[in-house]
Amino acid sequence: MKPIRVVVVGGGFAAVQFAKPLRSKLTSAECEILLFSRENHMVFHPLLADVAGASINADAAAAPLRQMLPGVGCRTERVERIDLASSEIEFDDGSGALARLHYDHVVIACGAESNLGIIPGMSDHAFAFKVMRDAIDLRQHVVRQMEQAEASSDPDRRRWHLNFIVVGAGFSGVEVAGEINELVRSSTRFYRNFRKDDVVVTLVHSQDQILPEVAPKLREFAKKRMQKAGITMLLNTRAGAATHEGIELNDAPMLHGATIVCTIRTAISPLVQHLDVPKARGRIRTAPEMRIEGQTNAWAIGDCAHIVNAFDSKPSPPTGQFAERQGRQAAQNLIRVLYGGTTQPFSFKALGQLCSIGGYQAVAEMLGVHISGFLAWFLWRGVYLFKLPTWSRRIKVALDWAWDVVFPRDLSFLNTNTAEDVTHAYYRPGDFIHQQGELARTFSIIEDGEVEILQTTETNQEAKIVAVLGKGDFFGEAALLGNRPHETSVRARTVVHLVQIGSALFSQLAGSFAPLRDLLAKAVTRRSGDFWRRLPLAKSLLAGETLASLLDPLPPEPLSAETTLADALGALNQSGTGELLILDEKQRLWGTLDRDDIYDIIARIAVTPTDKRGDVGQRKLSDLLLRNPVCVSLDDSPLVASATMIDHGIAWLPVVQSKDDPRPVGCVRGEKIGNRIMQKIGHSEADHARAAN
Ligand SMILES: Cc1cc2nc3c(=O)[nH]c(=O)nc-3n(C[C@H](O)[C@H](O)[C@H](O)COP(=O)(O)OP(=O)(O)OC[C@H]3O[C@@H](n4cnc5c(N)ncnc54)[C@H](O)[C@@H]3O)c2cc1C
Repeated sequence: MKPIRVVVVGGGFAAVQFAKPLRSKLTSAECEILLFSRENHMVFHPLLADVAGASINADAAAAPLRQMLPGVGCRTERVERIDLASSEIEFDDGSGALARLHYDHVVIACGAESNLGIIPGMSDHAFAFKVMRDAIDLRQHVVRQMEQAEASSDPDRRRWHLNFIVVGAGFSGVEVAGEINELVRSSTRFYRNFRKDDVVVTLVHSQDQILPEVAPKLREFAKKRMQKAGITMLLNTRAGAATHEGIELNDAPMLHGATIVCTIRTAISPLVQHLDVPKARGRIRTAPEMRIEGQTNAWAIGDCAHIVNAFDSKPSPPTGQFAERQGRQAAQNLIRVLYGGTTQPFSFKALGQLCSIGGYQAVAEMLGVHISGFLAWFLWRGVYLFKLPTWSRRIKVALDWAWDVVFPRDLSFLNTNTAEDVTHAYYRPGDFIHQQGELARTFSIIEDGEVEILQTTETNQEAKIVAVLGKGDFFGEAALLGNRPHETSVRARTVVHLVQIGSALFSQLAGSFAPLRDLLAKAVTRRSGDFWRRLPLAKSLLAGETLASLLDPLPPEPLSAETTLADALGALNQSGTGELLILDEKQRLWGTLDRDDIYDIIARIAVTPTDKRGDVGQRKLSDLLLRNPVCVSLDDSPLVASATMIDHGIAWLPVVQSKDDPRPVGCVRGEKIGNRIMQKIGHSEADHARAAN
């Protein structure tokens, strides 16, 4: 008889503890087990903090699945979709095509994902702490901060490099804060430019106590010990946003620091999100035996599943301990189903909690007994050592730990070349993206928001705004191409999202991609400070003018983002100037429309496949135009308005009330500014002639 096929999706605690006993109980002739996992190894999460803190090597906390699971078909492939109706999985077979595979039983054990998206800027500026790559990157980053602090001659910048912020004081937050603190403080003796007292590790937590899962006495112990070790606790404090500079807190001043680790909340895996089954808070609801509610051959275990524990009738917590037990018991239940036995509800009495807090200290609750301090730390290490999946790993980790007790932690770091990176960045209004005189490290493209370009000159030390850039614009090219410090500062005018390209990658692109090279060459010429230097008279004549004195009235009949292209074309033809504003429901500037935009829209439609164009006339402006057009505000000078128009190659600009109040008050036109300059030249020549007579 053909063996039944069991497909396991996942390669973590639950999946491994399911596949292992199933393989040992059923022969290959009875059952084929195929385990699909995105990685070819299982990550032992409780040791991630030790990897980040350089007390063990990464490979010690990751065990290769195929070596752990002999007799199981391990496939390093990502499952994209599970079709419960046809009992098939769809997966990426590595060639870019989607392959399908039939199963007799499927076990979903794909865990949860890290979730940085809930706080603005976190995904751009914070480290998640879930997968091995997070721990390795964090370790490299922490060591790099020490190197940069050593090199820095600016005390503020040095302090910034030595400020480490961990958001969330659950198990992983506490463990990683303890490890970073230990790594940095124990390493200060190798650096000359800073001391232990210069290091600040801050744990930010929204509740009034850290480690809410453990007993109050142990919590209090952990808090006091960590504070004694130098960790600052900010309790009852929520992170509002993360930026390049640090984190913005609700009800407290901004916390500055070059390192942010975010350990709060997890997100549901996309695979589970797309599954049409009963769910509780996003997790798959199962019957007590762990089969998915309403399914006969689909099971869910581990962090992705909502499984009520028959021991206390509570939903199982998302911990490794529970995931392992669920895996083992689901394997037994599947065997019972295959051989006509009665399945058992999941029931497990938790053994206890263990949490390392750094500095050879831990807190532990084992079978109701509370232990803290060095003994708990020893127990913590012992328990995890024996929980590691293979003997080779246990020996490796034991040797690493023994080494760590005797010798200093390893401060070498690889992969430091951020010049090759493409990253995202988030800035709040008023934040500087770079300062005049700083070395250029990145080329930035504005994904959303507006920035202002500021410049001081030898004669005028007060920074003046010289231009405004908006969505789709870029900056940083002149300094990178000229290999010189920035000649201007760039400051966020609104909330700004940037894509930043490291200097080496930018050089490669600019050198080899001809259209980009041409675009950059034009931008450099256009933006060079020579523009006003070549026109000193025009500059001095405009210097005394206000934007209000050059304002044209608003174009009639504003449109909304919901207006169709056909209606917008009609309105544009009716307007005398050929320019229209698009406002949102609060009468704030949403966008602009003129003939150039129409040509752009037509060009884009022309290159869209015919079957995807739809009814072009009925398409809404919100689908066709960019939101937040570049604009200036009444308090900007005509010089800024002129430079902004020149930079964008446009002849008019909307003017809004102020940076904080984007309601339009009028428009400014290049032609009118030109006329005003000519008028003033005429007047000054007449004055000269009168004076000469
Ligand atoms: C830093 C940290 C420290 C922790 N410390 C502890 C602790 O001390 N004690 C404790 O009990 N618990 C701890 N936990 C929680 C514990 O790690 C989780 O509860 C446990 O890992 C859940 O196991 P799982 O098998 O459900 O998911 P995971 O272990 O997360 O495994 C999920 C697997 O599914 C794979 N996968 C996901 N999507 C797909 C897909 N579409 N296709 C193929 N494969 C996919 C992933 O690659 C991964 O291999 C910690 C967690 C973290 C992040």
